[in-house]
Amino acid sequence: MKINLVKNVLEANEAAAEQNRRRLDDACVLAVNITSAPGSGKTSLLEATVPALADELPAAVIVGDLQTTRDAERLAAIGAATTQINTEGGCHLSAAQVAKALDTLDLTSLRLLFIENVGNMVCPAAFDLGEHVRVAMLSVPEGDDKVAKYPTLFQPADVILIHKIDLVDALDCDLARIHADIAKLNTRAPVFETSTKTAAGLDQWYNWLRTKCP
Ligand code: MG
Ligand code: ZN
Repeated sequence: MKINLVKNVLEANEAAAEQNRRRLDDACVLAVNITSAPGSGKTSLLEATVPALADELPAAVIVGDLQTTRDAERLAAIGAATTQINTEGGCHLSAAQVAKALDTLDLTSLRLLFIENVGNMVCPAAFDLGEHVRVAMLSVPEGDDKVAKYPTLFQPADVILIHKIDLVDALDCDLARIHADIAKLNTRAPVFETSTKTAAGLDQWYNWLRTKCP
């Protein structure tokens, strides 16, 4: 019975996700689902990305956290249309939550929609939100062993960011190990080494987004 229950939850989510994707397709908006552990730099990455692309690719952000509007406040401060979802204990975003958030946004004015998922390296990977592309981030402080430990986050990713790359030397991070572990799981996604502190790799990330935009 347990297996059936999980299957039904995922099937219902899948249907809602397809609806979201159709709605976004109709508005010619590229939806980008960003997944990573808490504190890996999702919000900071968006604080850099949204203004950098604003002229060519106006973006909004849907951001999920258990509690608070802290991330939404940060993103609103840089002028991004932002909707915060509080999951109140839920450890991932669902397509139904994203559907409600879509109601709050003027999609016709957008080309990009970033969905900052709840910080969690496990179940966000199992829930399609109706996105077109998925981003998996690993930040250097999390440790060079984490890709192999949390493979399901990296397997379905369309792009992988090794973030806070400026900390590699300070933390004795074995970058080759991270790349080798990624190569075992996902040879399809480009891998960029990025930092919002030094701006390393951000142009590659922006160019990748440009190539994906409808
Ligand atoms: Mg955040
Ligand atoms: Zn969860």
